[in-house]
Amino acid sequence: MKTILTSALVLGGLGLVFGLVLGYASKKFAVKIDPKIEKVFEALPGANCGACGFTSCMELARAIVEGKAKASACLLIKKKQNRIDQISRILGIELK
Ligand code: SF4
Repeated sequence: MKTILTSALVLGGLGLVFGLVLGYASKKFAVKIDPKIEKVFEALPGANCGACGFTSCMELARAIVEGKAKASACLLIKKKQNRIDQISRILGIELK
């Protein structure tokens, strides 16, 4: 009985310590991303196919927000005007 209780306390203590360390690390080392990039990324298909010439949908989202690429660069939404309009609203500009 004593062995089970000791094991439970040790594992519980380790879980608590690791949880606190991971919680602190996630706050301390969090990477801040422009909220516009995240919103544009959510409007993209998320297939990460690379057909747009970027390595991922996130990279195209970043390029669109930075003005280095057009929203229509994504071949999967090129003909879906509602997605292009959604990205236009996020950026507050008119895209073609
Ligand atoms: S073409 Fe579209 S779906 Fe493919 S990686 Fe580029 S943004 Fe993502």
